[in-house]
Amino acid sequence: MPRRAHDAADGCTRTSRRCADENGPLDSLLDHYAGILYFGLLAGGFAVLVVLESFAPRRPLDLGLGSRWITNVGLLVIDTLLLRSLQPVAAVGIAYYAVDRDWGLVDLNSVHPVAGIVLAILLLDLGRYWEHVALHRFKPLWRIHKVHHTDLDFDCTTGLRFHPLEAVIGVGLDAAVIVAFGVPPMAVVLLSLVYVTETLFNHANLRLPTGLERALRWVIVTPDMHRVHHSADRRETDTNYAVLFSWWDRMFGTYRAQPAAGHAGMTMGLHEYRDPLRLSVHRLLLMPFQRGRPTPVIGDQRPDNPPLS
Ligand SMILES: [Zn+2]
Ligand SMILES: [Zn+2]
Repeated sequence: MPRRAHDAADGCTRTSRRCADENGPLDSLLDHYAGILYFGLLAGGFAVLVVLESFAPRRPLDLGLGSRWITNVGLLVIDTLLLRSLQPVAAVGIAYYAVDRDWGLVDLNSVHPVAGIVLAILLLDLGRYWEHVALHRFKPLWRIHKVHHTDLDFDCTTGLRFHPLEAVIGVGLDAAVIVAFGVPPMAVVLLSLVYVTETLFNHANLRLPTGLERALRWVIVTPDMHRVHHSADRRETDTNYAVLFSWWDRMFGTYRAQPAAGHAGMTMGLHEYRDPLRLSVHRLLLMPFQRGRPTPVIGDQRPDNPPLS
């Protein structure tokens, strides 16, 4: 029996893009305005967080804003022009293409719409967790992802700092999950909107009230939790991989509650890259293609950063 047995007699399916208007106001709104919502949340979230960061900073910034913001926003512009804006569009396109062809080992489109979207979001976010683990564990992937970790401070602009190639990896991972589970397109749209907001939020240099922070981190990744992941201490860098739901790290043993040196005392970034002048936009774009080891900083000869001879 075809899995789209719930299709209406006129040929419209609950997940067909052609019939999005007939599937309810939320589907129609998301289908037509997803792009505007995406960039609205990006700009609005950024503006709100910048104001909040100025009122309640978690730690003093070592470098200030100037050159870092130019670099981070510059990467966002390049990412957006090249690939970043294509990532949600491509993922949604793949989801529509897959559902129209009844792809998927499991078909989340055939269960209750709300349950299907919730399950799909959980699976996509779990996929992002393992993608992030792979970005740290495999050297060719780390060369791309380390661009994100070279920020010597940590604020909401750090959430904009990604090499464009990381978006390609993201599309590939999303496609695998979408095709494997027959993910409803609306789940992909909704998650892209949640991600753009959450990625800015969990990089914020923001001091949340202790009770609120504790409650939030049972469900989502908070700025304090993700800041540990940006520690220069590799034992901390390789923890807290979750993107949206914090429980993946607890489930898979990669959770670390706090940095050993405390949030005010911890060193951000990577020990191999301490010179801001070597972290300009064009150098970061070339970073994945440079195989040589960077010059260590004098006075930073830690056991995991032996001096180069
Ligand atoms: Zn990472
Ligand atoms: Zn990050």
